[in-house]
Amino acid sequence: AKDKGRDQYDFYTESLNNRAEQLMTLERELRHGLRREEFFLLFQPQVDLNTGDITAMEALIRWQHPERGEILPDEFIPVAEDTGLIMPLGNWVLQQACMQIKLLHQLLGRGVRVAVNISARQFRDPGLENVIDFALRTSGLEPRFLEIDIHEGMLSDEPEVARDQLARIRRTGVTITIDDFGTGFSSLRQLRSLPIDMLKIGQTFVKEIPEDGPNTDIATTIIGIAQQMEKQVVAEGVETEQQEYFLRMHGCSLVQGYRYASPMSFDELYRYFSDDSER
Ligand code: C2E
Repeated sequence: AKDKGRDQYDFYTESLNNRAEQLMTLERELRHGLRREEFFLLFQPQVDLNTGDITAMEALIRWQHPERGEILPDEFIPVAEDTGLIMPLGNWVLQQACMQIKLLHQLLGRGVRVAVNISARQFRDPGLENVIDFALRTSGLEPRFLEIDIHEGMLSDEPEVARDQLARIRRTGVTITIDDFGTGFSSLRQLRSLPIDMLKIGQTFVKEIPEDGPNTDIATTIIGIAQQMEKQVVAEGVETEQQEYFLRMHGCSLVQGYRYASPMSFDELYRYFSDDSER
């Protein structure tokens, strides 16, 4: 039995070491990737069901790894966050999103908003306001066309600090959205005092629609809260006709998801807009 215990222990430390090694490799590769510009952005349109218009698009990062191919953010954003590499990476995303959307505006002859995800570490940085301002100024993008998406969970640690940071970000003139609303624990009182413009219903809650259950309640509650606070509300991850019907019936007409469009490259986005204006 003793031997068995040791075997298990060895196995455990070995897999831990493997994991630690994998993380170190990933960190090294992330560093290289940043230098070699292996990252790129995809954009997913957000649609208004009432008008059929594209109201915004969300910028989503991808990593074109030289050996492993395309890597999704869930795999490398947490490592970037832990190692601090999210700072240069996050700056790059902001800068690129602003530049590319400014170019899109010039090509289309009209403006449309771009949403950029901000990670917890970026949100804690007192210099974030300047980073945003810099991206806006150097790209020439009008502030009202930039939306900053902040996960609700990032607001709960130090609500006062979070509120001040939101106020500083808002000073740049951008739109602020609370992402994945309903997964954190903000009180209504706290929410009311925050300088925000929109709430996003995360995929987890949209997925449960239309089956009755606790999560359907959450979706309708979020819509209700947004309406009471006179904020806009967007549903993410909409895939089915039933979900669309349910959301529309409950007063949420801004939607994003595979049902309308998957995340796409800049060229595809431009074509998507061109086709849309011909419809
Ligand atoms: P998110 O902000 O919740 O983004 C939505 C995710 O859902 C995206 O995954 C998108 O491709 C996916 N999606 C869109 N429509 C549907 C649908 O109808 N069904 C389903 N099942 N999924 C859908 P992606 O691109 O893999 O991004 C995952 C997460 O990584 C994002 O979640 C966001 O939290 C984070 N992320 C992405 N880009 C960035 C970035 O530039 N910076 C930071 N800090 N985080 C990012």
